[in-house]
Amino acid sequence: MEKLIRKLPKTELHLHLDGSLRVKTVLELAEDREIELPTADQKGLAEYLQVSEDCDSLAEYLEKFDLPLKVMQTEKALTRVTYELLEDAAWENVKYLEIRFAPLLLTEELRPAEVVEAVLAGVEKGENKYELQANIILCCMRHQDPSRSIETAQLAVDYSDQGVVGLDLAGDEANFPPEEHEEAFKLAAGAGLHRTVHAGETAGAKNVKKAIDYLNAERIGHGIRSKEDKETLETIKEAGVTLEICPTSNLHTNAVTDLEQHPIREYYEAGIPITVNTDNRTVSNLTLSQEYLMLYREFGFSLAEIQELILSGIKAAFISDKEQEKLITEFKSEFETIAGIDNKILE
Ligand SMILES: [Zn+2]
Repeated sequence: MEKLIRKLPKTELHLHLDGSLRVKTVLELAEDREIELPTADQKGLAEYLQVSEDCDSLAEYLEKFDLPLKVMQTEKALTRVTYELLEDAAWENVKYLEIRFAPLLLTEELRPAEVVEAVLAGVEKGENKYELQANIILCCMRHQDPSRSIETAQLAVDYSDQGVVGLDLAGDEANFPPEEHEEAFKLAAGAGLHRTVHAGETAGAKNVKKAIDYLNAERIGHGIRSKEDKETLETIKEAGVTLEICPTSNLHTNAVTDLEQHPIREYYEAGIPITVNTDNRTVSNLTLSQEYLMLYREFGFSLAEIQELILSGIKAAFISDKEQEKLITEFKSEFETIAGIDNKILE
């Protein structure tokens, strides 16, 4: 089953660049820039970059991004880590991915536009070498002044014809509500950019509703606490919003205390559109295939249901209807070849 899942064509829509660096790369980039490391040993560094079993808060989880952000402050580093992420995704047959990062956290040496261009160069390099497509989502940070979010939105608009497809709001959800960043999201929507918002992860359902009502979110990052409020669940369904679910990450941020408490199966059965994602590959020491395998083992998702979840990722992707249709046709054909599964269930 593990091999089979790895072979299936997949999509990943919720993936942070700074949480998905290869450990060896962090080591080399730190050496290049003479950044002090907690340990020079690769195994020790891997442990340092990963969330520990007893991590009990989002705050502790977010600390895991400090060192990666330090080593990513040059064009060369940004292009390299982006390219490597595409390579890692291609290894497990991810055919379409959306990579997100906060450009304004990467400006120790670079201008924000240079940050975006360096990441786009990594995407181009990866797309030229591997059979996959990647687009970029820029993250506004909740703890920053709303004017910084407007700056991020403008940057996204400036690069919207070069592979930046959406705007996100990330960071400390419990202390910074979504509506503060309304203007940035209006700017993005006005320019035809897509919107996704981290909400209902470590704070309640009302943030999900606010993200849809105020920020015009088409997708919600996590949204696992939506079930706490019936009205929010109805709003999600009515607005046709997709939840970007990252079960292992939710466990690591303590958004759920154990996997049994995770609502993924409940949402799936209630007909709420969901997609499956890793969130942060290095922080959670995770591949997308491992996440699907976990759903198969722990939540009883059948292979046909896994295929349906994968297709749901295409339907929620920030690409045109025509591009979505093309990918769906390609994926269905690959599913048939790989698994010989009856695709009728997917109609
Ligand atoms: Zn996230």
